[in-house]
Amino acid sequence: MSDCLFCRIVAGEIPSNKVYENDKVFAFRDINPQAPVHVLIVPKRHKDNILACDADTAAALTDAVRVIAAQEGVEKSGFRVVSNCGKDGAQSVNHLHLHLMGGKTLPGRMA
Ligand code: AMP
Repeated sequence: MSDCLFCRIVAGEIPSNKVYENDKVFAFRDINPQAPVHVLIVPKRHKDNILACDADTAAALTDAVRVIAAQEGVEKSGFRVVSNCGKDGAQSVNHLHLHLMGGKTLPGRMA
């Protein structure tokens, strides 16, 4: 999708701070980090949100979580994975993505 921000990042049309890539996923640092480690993990093939995530994509995303958590040094300390979906989920970019956040103790409650 040529008008999708994350598709354009995956294609290299918009610069990003890449932390990991394989044939199915691309991961880069969030431009507005909410934690010392804040990485966005996206499938290369466009999907609007987690409701469109098939089993193959889910496996690729969770494999990437494992690799990136180790790479970022938060594997043992712990981290959080979030996927915002739709209006009430406060999804601002309509390309499925996981937020991987860590590097500090995160707040335990949503509100
Ligand atoms: P969400 O609000 O869950 O859809 O998450 C979208 C995330 O994308 C936000 O945390 C933004 O800070 C992040 N973001 C927006 N534009 C960029 C960009 N060009 N590079 C990296 N992260 C971005």
